Amino acid sequence: SAPVFTRAPVFGDRTALVDQHGCHTYRDLYQQSLHLAREICRLRACPGGDLAGERVSFLCSNDASYVVAQWASWMSGGVAVPLHNKHPAALLEYFIQDSRSSVVLAGTDHLELLSPVASRLGIPLLALPPTCPGASGGPAGADAPAPHWQEWGWQERDAMIVYTSGTTGQPKGVLSTHRNISSMVTGLVDKWAWTLDDVILHVLPLHHIHGIVNKLLCPLWVGAVCVMLPEFSAQQVWDKFLSTDIPRVNVFMAVPTIYSKLVAYYDQHFTQPHVQEYVRAVCQERVRLMVSGSAALPLPVLEKWRAITGHTLLERYGMTEIGMALSNPLTTARVPGSVGTPLPGVEVRIVSENPQRDVCSYAVYAEGNERETKVTPGFEDKEGELLVRGPSVFRKYWDRPEETKLAFTPDGWFKTGDTVVFKDGRYWIRGRTSVDIIKSGGYKLSALEVERHLLAHPSITDVAVIGVPDMTWGQRVTAVVTLHDGHSLSLQELREWARGMLAPYAVPSELLLVEEIPRNPMGKVNKKELLHQLYPGAPG
Ligand code: ATP
Ligand code: MG
Repeated sequence: SAPVFTRAPVFGDRTALVDQHGCHTYRDLYQQSLHLAREICRLRACPGGDLAGERVSFLCSNDASYVVAQWASWMSGGVAVPLHNKHPAALLEYFIQDSRSSVVLAGTDHLELLSPVASRLGIPLLALPPTCPGASGGPAGADAPAPHWQEWGWQERDAMIVYTSGTTGQPKGVLSTHRNISSMVTGLVDKWAWTLDDVILHVLPLHHIHGIVNKLLCPLWVGAVCVMLPEFSAQQVWDKFLSTDIPRVNVFMAVPTIYSKLVAYYDQHFTQPHVQEYVRAVCQERVRLMVSGSAALPLPVLEKWRAITGHTLLERYGMTEIGMALSNPLTTARVPGSVGTPLPGVEVRIVSENPQRDVCSYAVYAEGNERETKVTPGFEDKEGELLVRGPSVFRKYWDRPEETKLAFTPDGWFKTGDTVVFKDGRYWIRGRTSVDIIKSGGYKLSALEVERHLLAHPSITDVAVIGVPDMTWGQRVTAVVTLHDGHSLSLQELREWARGMLAPYAVPSELLLVEEIPRNPMGKVNKKELLHQLYPGAPG
């Protein structure tokens, strides 16, 4: 389980990454990282060429410099702390300070933003050299200590601190080891059959496990190509899908909001039948895999995407703390609304709250490699909290011993905080126990399920369903909604429409029309924050 960069020399002159500056080979990225690692070691005056777990924060554009910064952090024995180039200075400062980074790396475009932060914190700031295709990183400085990772035992070394999305509170630093990360990578490489002929289009932020592991480290692990856009643009994604230039994209992964935006762009620009046929043919012939995750995929988006491209999006479930845990199958039928079954190496359990019992557990039996979920008799179709165990589960929350302790059971299972049900041989995410499971009038319902249905309404463009504290019902089901231009919708109309498809207690009893539903860079809604914006006095 050595880090990805140790495999780079094997792939030598193959293209690793294509960004707005050009094509970068595996050799280029490796050499430039080595050069930067030496500089970091020199800056930190670590004579043995080993930062021994010091944190290295870095901020750069979505291009080759990101890979170089990450690999250099690892080559020099540091813990990589990737920062997000859309975050405000105050949040960046929080991450740098919270991780107690001893050096900060910044791309040319980010020096101005970070210099005052670094000098306020008294931390050295190192400018990332522009990564030009073909550049070797210059002559390796003879006076710089050579990093000597070849001798390190990688397994239990700390590798990375990734901050959670902050959907339910202050983002927490998740510390993963190299073993954790390579388990995440190899599990996905296996399940989704990555090969060195693959070409993935990367459009996601690089401070989050989805963008870092699924879309970048997986291709780099197998010697494939990652085509990276500086940021998401619907037009550029469609251009890349349809372009005849080499390399041609055959794998795509994104969050649900990105698929919605791609659908909206298609509806607006690809109106002629022959163009639509061309889009479908290209997606069918060239693209082998399209994945959605990080938030629940609305059914109308899945259906529209299937109509446009012929692809049934493969939905999977994961978290910063565990990497990916559940995935729909690659080759057999994908079931809309479900997130499939556990990835290789991942053990899961569902535990009900009241009574506290194992609803079911999934185990891998070594003999013949059989896998099976065993449901406790009498607990069929009962929902509960998802617990996860396995080599990809993180070591700890950085500097948060109390929260780390609370996040695990005494026998070492990680408590995801997500409510899940096992039904028809697969797993279904009902939502976050803390905000998506609404308790109304003695019933428990899933906000995600209500959202899925409401999105099918012809006037509704976006929706977040929240449980608002209520004297009579405990919580009432409130739908926060945005509408198509020129459309109107009353609560009564919505209720009448929804009655046909939702249980009576799940039909919203309140409708709030808003201009926009606030979402973070991963397309997630902070429902606690939304509740407090709408009801400043609300408890909880
Ligand atoms: P924080 O922990 O700071 O509140 P966060 O939980 O959103 O933020 P992440 O680790 O990025 O941070 O997100 C993991 C969460 O995303 C999961 O716990 C789950 O609630 C949600 N999630 C991921 N994939 C899916 C999916 N396919 N369907 C529904 N929810 C999903
Ligand atoms: Mg979380």
